[in-house]
Amino acid sequence: MIENGKKVPQVTVKRLSRYLRVLEHFSEQGYETISSEELANELHVKPSQLRKDLAYFGEFGTRGMGYSVSKLAEVLRKILGLHRQWAIAIIGVGNLGTALLRYKGLNEKGFRVAALFDDDPEKVGSARSGIHIYHVDNLANVVKEKNIQIVILTVPAPAARAAAEAVIKAGIKSILNFAPVSIKTGPEITCLQVDIASELKILSHYLAGQDVSGGKDGKVAIPG
Ligand code: ATP
Repeated sequence: MIENGKKVPQVTVKRLSRYLRVLEHFSEQGYETISSEELANELHVKPSQLRKDLAYFGEFGTRGMGYSVSKLAEVLRKILGLHRQWAIAIIGVGNLGTALLRYKGLNEKGFRVAALFDDDPEKVGSARSGIHIYHVDNLANVVKEKNIQIVILTVPAPAARAAAEAVIKAGIKSILNFAPVSIKTGPEITCLQVDIASELKILSHYLAGQDVSGGKDGKVAIPG
C-alpha cells in the first residue's frame, strides 16, 4: 500500500484492522469519541504508535477532544477497502476449507464467498452452504465471471504451489494461503501465509523455554 508517496508497512495495515475492530466495539457500547490513549491501550500499543499509523493517511482527531468513533471507523473502513464487497473463492473444499466457509468472520461486511473449487470428482458439481463447487480447471473463467478478487488456498501442501500458479495466472492478486508451503510471488501479488502448525511450534518453544528457566542447571531435558 502506497499512501501520500510513502509505503505503508504491512504491520501498520494489520494494526488498522485491529483499531477498526476496537472502534466498532466502542460504537456498539454507545461511545461517540475516544482518545488516542484509550484506543491505543485497548491494543497494547503506544499512543505515539497509533498516531504514527494514522499519520500515513492524513490528520484525524481534534487536540484535546480525541477521535470521533464513527468518523475514524469510516475512514479506516475506506483505507481497508471495506466500503465495498470483495468476492472470495476457496480452493480445496476439505475439512479446513469447509470450516472456513462456515466461519462467520469470513462472511463479515466487506467479504462474500462466491465460489468453491476442488479437483475431487465426488465434490465437483455439488454445493456447500449453498455455494457451488467448480472444478479447479475452470478457475480462470469463474474468477472472471464472478469478479473474484481474493483466493483462499486450503489444498494439501503438495498441491499448493501449482494451485497458486493457476490462481495468479487467472489474474488474482490477493491470496490467503493455509497450506504449509511458502509461495513465491512477484511484488504485484499479496500472499499472506497462515501456518497454524508453525504458530503451534512458537507456542511450544515458549512453553519449553519455561521448563528451561525452571530447571536447576539451565539444561533442556530431552525425553529419553
Ligand atoms: P477430505 O477428506 O474431505 O478430502 P481433507 O481436509 O482431509 O478432506 P485434504 O487432503 O487436506 O482433504 O485436501 C483438501 C481439499 O483439497 C480436498 O477437498 C481435496 O480434494 C482438495 N484438493 C487436493 N488437491 C487439489 C488440487 N490440486 N486442486 C484443487 N483441490 C485439490
